[in-house]
Amino acid sequence: MDLKELSNRLLPNVEHTREYYEEKYPKRDLPEGAMVTRYAPSPTGFVHMGALFASYINSKMAQQTNGVFFVRIEDTDQAREVEGATSDILRDLNDFGFAPNEGMTLDGEKGMYGPYIQSKRKDIYQAFAKDLIEKGLAYPCFMSPEELNEIRDKQERVKARIGIYGEWARDRYLTPEKIMEKIEAGEKYIIRLKSPGHFNHKIEIKDCIKGRLEMPENDIDIVIIKSDGLPTYHFAHAVDDYLMHTTHVIRGDEWVSSLPTHIQLFQVLGVKPPKYAHIAPLSKKEGENHRKLSKRKDPEAAVSYYTEVGIPKEAVKIYLATIANSNFERWFDTTPNADLNDFNMEFNKMSKSDSLFDLEKLQNISRNYISKLPATTVYEQALSYASKFDQELEDLLIKYKDYSTALYNIERERKKPRKDYVMYSDIKNQTWYMYDELFDALKVTYEWGNIQDKTEIKNILSLYLEKYYHETDDESAWFHRMKELAEELGYASDMKAYKENPEAYKGNVADISIVLRVALTSKAQTPNLYNLMKLMGRERMQQRFENCIKSF
Ligand code: GLU
Repeated sequence: MDLKELSNRLLPNVEHTREYYEEKYPKRDLPEGAMVTRYAPSPTGFVHMGALFASYINSKMAQQTNGVFFVRIEDTDQAREVEGATSDILRDLNDFGFAPNEGMTLDGEKGMYGPYIQSKRKDIYQAFAKDLIEKGLAYPCFMSPEELNEIRDKQERVKARIGIYGEWARDRYLTPEKIMEKIEAGEKYIIRLKSPGHFNHKIEIKDCIKGRLEMPENDIDIVIIKSDGLPTYHFAHAVDDYLMHTTHVIRGDEWVSSLPTHIQLFQVLGVKPPKYAHIAPLSKKEGENHRKLSKRKDPEAAVSYYTEVGIPKEAVKIYLATIANSNFERWFDTTPNADLNDFNMEFNKMSKSDSLFDLEKLQNISRNYISKLPATTVYEQALSYASKFDQELEDLLIKYKDYSTALYNIERERKKPRKDYVMYSDIKNQTWYMYDELFDALKVTYEWGNIQDKTEIKNILSLYLEKYYHETDDESAWFHRMKELAEELGYASDMKAYKENPEAYKGNVADISIVLRVALTSKAQTPNLYNLMKLMGRERMQQRFENCIKSF
């Protein structure tokens, strides 16, 4: 029996040949230097920031070289698959602006190199495995899980490297006849690579990010087709990235140790491997040390976190660019109206070892980002946030659209805008007192300042409304009248005069304005009081003052 016949017996239900698939997926017609990159998630239900980071770099590299960025779903480990995970991933990519131009998209599969879901590519992998068997480069292995465990135990005992290689590869040299005997006896098998490597040989690999790597050649007869007929990650990676003409495999550096295996698989297939770029993991400071950003310990490790707290996607993106390339921050700060797409990302400006993920810095970026948005956008975003996470706020925002927008506009369109909001979930905490529905004079804590005396406060409030508050005043007239009120009550209207001779006064105009601010909002610190008063109008001010007095 020859190897061709044997391969037909081992993988009997393969419809096409390797050559058929090679013809079906011809070379891409792309300009010189165009990168073909991909994001290849396993649909296991949790999208880690590290994965988003990787997809950003992949999509950016393709975009800036006029290449292709595609998404391939790696679902060959069907036990780990979670329902709905694929659409969650695709939605995240879309929301962040990393939507692929090929492969799995929210509108289904796109492109001529599909299917882009590995479980639908079984025939393809098997065609390639068959080809390897025919060439004597792969073989069936009949060892049972128990036998494999025994081998592992023995290897541990004698302190040998773990794995099926060399003398441990029991079935490597079975004759076709022996193999047939076993098949006929109903023995179960998987397909292994017949590794041509030697562990003592070193191979040199150039990684686009990490530079030159020297690693021992692979000599393990890795599994390429599992007992369910589906490929392992390693084999699927080689076959898919070959047929899809990926030029750059940009992925997390947990895969670095598999590089010798992957390079060898391409060699055995007789094709040129893609270039590799391994991204350093996102890490977090813990005391003096850095540790990996952890799904279990760090809420910010989940991409969903940013949606849940209402940090704008754009801010997250700016932050990802900041950690991706060491020169980004400078570029961003010095480029007026910077558009992220115009930044040129480079592998050699990426961290080789780890990228510190600093939530505080991300929050600062977000704070700055929101402060520069037009108030109408803040309103829309706040409403969109509230519609998902805060019904009460949503109702208020719908009811008071113009009012809320005007509120967000206070001290906004200026060189140094106010920076009250880090995220959309801050908005309610920062503005609740401007909504009568949320403000209950009997329940709030009034944060009084220097003036605490209730009679004095009453006096200030009633005098102010009676005599000094004029709705038509502009800001300077408004302030002038506040000074007049201060003087009438024996407070200094001029800070310089007050500082020179504090004993001559009961206090100063700032103390008066604090009383008005606190009576109105309960808070000692708010955006510009003049604007708040204008927004509230006399009637509501009066109501608030009366309620404040009632609370005494
Ligand atoms: N499916 C692999 C993962 O989830 C993809 C790694 C790669 O990009 O090749 O990590």
